[in-house]
Amino acid sequence: MPALDRSTIWPYRDGEPGEFYYQRYAHPTGVEAERALGELDGGHALLFPSGAGATTSLVLALLSPGDTIALAEGAYYGTGIAFAQLERWGLRHLEFDQTGAPPAGVQLVWLEAPSNPFLTMPDLDAAAAHPAQVVVDATAATPIHLRPLERGADFVLHSATKYLAGHHDALLGAVVCKRAEDAERLKEFRTRAGIVAAPDPCWLLLRGLKTLEVRVRRQTESAQVLVQRLEAHPKVERVRYPGFGGLLSFDVAGADQARAVETSLRVITNATSLGGVDSVLEARARWEGDRVPPGLLRLSVGLEPVEELWDDLSQALKRV
Ligand code: PLP
Repeated sequence: MPALDRSTIWPYRDGEPGEFYYQRYAHPTGVEAERALGELDGGHALLFPSGAGATTSLVLALLSPGDTIALAEGAYYGTGIAFAQLERWGLRHLEFDQTGAPPAGVQLVWLEAPSNPFLTMPDLDAAAAHPAQVVVDATAATPIHLRPLERGADFVLHSATKYLAGHHDALLGAVVCKRAEDAERLKEFRTRAGIVAAPDPCWLLLRGLKTLEVRVRRQTESAQVLVQRLEAHPKVERVRYPGFGGLLSFDVAGADQARAVETSLRVITNATSLGGVDSVLEARARWEGDRVPPGLLRLSVGLEPVEELWDDLSQALKRV
């Protein structure tokens, strides 16, 4: 592993700044982590202090007052809330069904693959045929299952807090740009706005990336088993799963039943977020209100043995 360098300054050489001189512009751990992620996604990666920070930076760098974003319906609820915050600066957004073509007359198309927590997949071909630039938030797919830049997207966004770092111990975001000139423009905005990732989470990302493929493949295998069993369970009304990845959601009858599952778990942690080595589950209505069914439980499958996870889910579902 490269050494973790927390310096904010580096000495000039012969009176001239070298590659690194002030941390807000660039630092060695960040550059190394960006190189590794850029390779995985096939583009030019830039890191941000969180996924939400990456989202905000990307739209502020790309768009102007009066522009409209077409946002995938049912995407991470925080993305729509962040866009709503920017309405005061003249940025508009509307929602559309990402399984079909994006609406005309928008300046940016924002997809999520798969959407969190509805797990729909976007029609990437229809989006690529749209004249606007296309962003794919591929946080839940990861580059192991999807490389959107090869499917016509202009930008990939990740909450690297999730699968990429993968251990619930680093808050980080990333944008991977298809074109070097877009990356330059976004990097200039990032440097000037100061929305930069610190060395420590970048180092944890580098370490996380080393095991990304084995983690995600194992999480996918376990999720596929759990989905089959949940689908056959009498207390489960609906299961949502795109066929790959470690994220799924399922519905029990209502809020009380969801609470009974949440509070009966022994192996799976009742907590928010996703993509870590430990399985987590929560009722999403506590955050998203009536945007989601009251009995919707989101499960992020970790690395525990699948039979332990199933035993835990089945004993919790008995309390429903
Ligand atoms: N995108 C998706 C799909 C997410 O699930 C999240 C967080 O849950 C984000 C973006 C925001 O990322 P962060 O929490 O790292 O700011």
